[in-house]
Amino acid sequence: MKSLNKDIIIAVDGYSSCGKSTFARAIAEELNYLYVDSGAMYRAVALYCLRNNIIINGTFELVRIIRALALIDIEFKFNEQSLKYETFLNNENVEEDIRSVEVSEVVSLISKIREVREKILILQRRLGERKGIVMDGRDIGTVVFPEAELKIFMTADVDIRAKRRYDELKEKGLEVSLSEIKKNIEERDHQDVNRKESPLAKADDAVELDNSNMTPAEQMVWFRMIMSRFHK
Ligand code: C5P
Repeated sequence: MKSLNKDIIIAVDGYSSCGKSTFARAIAEELNYLYVDSGAMYRAVALYCLRNNIIINGTFELVRIIRALALIDIEFKFNEQSLKYETFLNNENVEEDIRSVEVSEVVSLISKIREVREKILILQRRLGERKGIVMDGRDIGTVVFPEAELKIFMTADVDIRAKRRYDELKEKGLEVSLSEIKKNIEERDHQDVNRKESPLAKADDAVELDNSNMTPAEQMVWFRMIMSRFHK
């Protein structure tokens, strides 16, 4: 791709499991930008709470979560072998653990909490200070970087999303049911869209990408077309 006039911020928001991370990582690679998966930050907080019995059977005391925030340190470190940034929780690589079904089941409860969002917002803005970044999530174009030069809002049919996620987990050898996955995706969407704090929403100036019937290669063709407006 031709070089850009200057480094920009690209916000990729959208529903659960519509391939945001895969797409965001691919475009970051193409531009030689930093890629940040903001969902991983919420997942790391959820994992900490599960491990420390702060969340039990989907219930928790708010005050314990707020107190725990001071003890949680989240970092992204580049893995030279996988060539990916991986998530570290208090210096431990938790990239695998944060993707578990248990974490997926409680993460949207955690991400509703204002104090959790405030902590993560500081981290997100710090990462974006030098621009040249692609960040994916739910509120990146609306709250985290409202001034982002490019905002992409991703959607896809819920059955297609569930099937993709099912195939992904199966490939990892996990025993899962397609209907449970679909239910989890629908619940997370519902909670993300309807929460009070930074709900999932399409920014007015975002471009929409419905990838229900698109291959990753076709999404890259679409992206290059969108990017032509930033070329020298
Ligand atoms: O993107 P991912 O599905 O890994 O995100 C996990 C959860 O974190 C989402 O279901 C959502 O509740 C929350 N999240 C959020 N805001 C973001 C990114 C993720 O609320 N910017």
